[in-house]
Amino acid sequence: MSNTPIREPNLFDRARAHIPGGVNSPVRAFNGVGGDPVFFTRAEGACLYDTDGRSYIDYVGSWGPMIAGHAHPHVVAAVQHAAAQGLSFGAPCPAEVTMAERLCQLVPAMDMVRMVNSGTEATMSAIRLARAATGRDAIIKFEGCYHGHADSFLVKAGSGALTLGVPNSPGVPGPLADLTLTLPFNDLAAVADCLEAHGTKVAAIIVEPVAGNMNCIPPVEGYLEGLRSLCDTHGCLLIFDEVMTGFRVALGGAQGLYGITPDLSTFGKVIGGGMPVGAFGGKREYMEQIAPSGPVYQAGTLSGNPVAMAAGLANLDLITAEGFYEHLEESTRTLVEGIAREANRHGVPFRTTQVGAMFGLFFTDAGRVINFEQSGACDIEAFRRFFHLMLDRGVYLAPSAYEAGFVSSAHTEEHLEATITAAGESFRELSRA
Ligand code: PMP
Repeated sequence: MSNTPIREPNLFDRARAHIPGGVNSPVRAFNGVGGDPVFFTRAEGACLYDTDGRSYIDYVGSWGPMIAGHAHPHVVAAVQHAAAQGLSFGAPCPAEVTMAERLCQLVPAMDMVRMVNSGTEATMSAIRLARAATGRDAIIKFEGCYHGHADSFLVKAGSGALTLGVPNSPGVPGPLADLTLTLPFNDLAAVADCLEAHGTKVAAIIVEPVAGNMNCIPPVEGYLEGLRSLCDTHGCLLIFDEVMTGFRVALGGAQGLYGITPDLSTFGKVIGGGMPVGAFGGKREYMEQIAPSGPVYQAGTLSGNPVAMAAGLANLDLITAEGFYEHLEESTRTLVEGIAREANRHGVPFRTTQVGAMFGLFFTDAGRVINFEQSGACDIEAFRRFFHLMLDRGVYLAPSAYEAGFVSSAHTEEHLEATITAAGESFRELSRA
């Protein structure tokens, strides 16, 4: 017998043989930045560890859920405890009741909530409810906003759809896509004009209150208030898609931060602590129309399952601790200001945005970026090179110029300093090329 060690064949080759594109969600494939994706075996605190044992300071945080850092002992213990009691009952359990109570307490606009298994399920169900409640079929969404992969949303969509250049996906029936009216983000006049023309057909406006799927773009002054009042005027529902912003930009989500009351809201990510969880909720008069209290059908075999609820509740314990968001916001500010300072030092045209613990990096010398068109006009090639220079230095950014970044409470001053130093070196290389 030979003593030659059996080498693990390239994981990505194995993955591509049986998984489309080698990944179970498109942006992970690095199409947005080039090269092969990194495969991870472990994550702890602010760091990810790849199959070769290399560590990376992580600013993706599983695309948002890991706001308290990876494998937080409190969350892991809660999951272990719950798992030992049974993985899923397919019947009511106490934890889902506690979750509903806590969410409704933390989000004042939410009287009732239904748990689901992903952000996509949450948004898909929310628009079904809005259509049923208004008896109208059209919805308004904004270019570059991403609301999951349900048919109605894959029209000028953001995130992976944008990164791969398929914002309008094949397979979405034309007559359904026609019901999705898309308008530029941060342009109230466009919404007013559209509602003037089609208002009686529009069931809802769905919006990411801080756009995080075309880089990170905050709402301009008065934009969200304007959407609220236009919805009131035209009898449409306002849906805040807070799958990303919920419990990320502030404890009460973007609606708490900006003081707006949507009719329906969707959540995911943070409320699952890393487990597959989503939720939609809102005013009682609408939510009571959901089956079985009403006729609008929505269901899920694993919805509200006890292990996922345990992870989510444990995460909520952590984020409701005194000073949690103040600290997180401060860390995020230190990071983006540090990176911007380094870009400036090396003469690289660059801007950042920040709302709470969510941030955006833009390679541009233009002014403020407020919509998809402007985000797409940034130097995407410079981002790609920056991404790889940072990756080589052990910093894992989202592998696309069209994604927001996330900071967790596990990011220490040392992590932030190391990241800023890596950014300085990366900008220096960029500026020399
Ligand atoms: N809405 C928003 C704002 C999102 O950012 C995402 C996912 N990034 C979704 C919906 C879809 O969530 P999921 O991937 O869990 O289906």
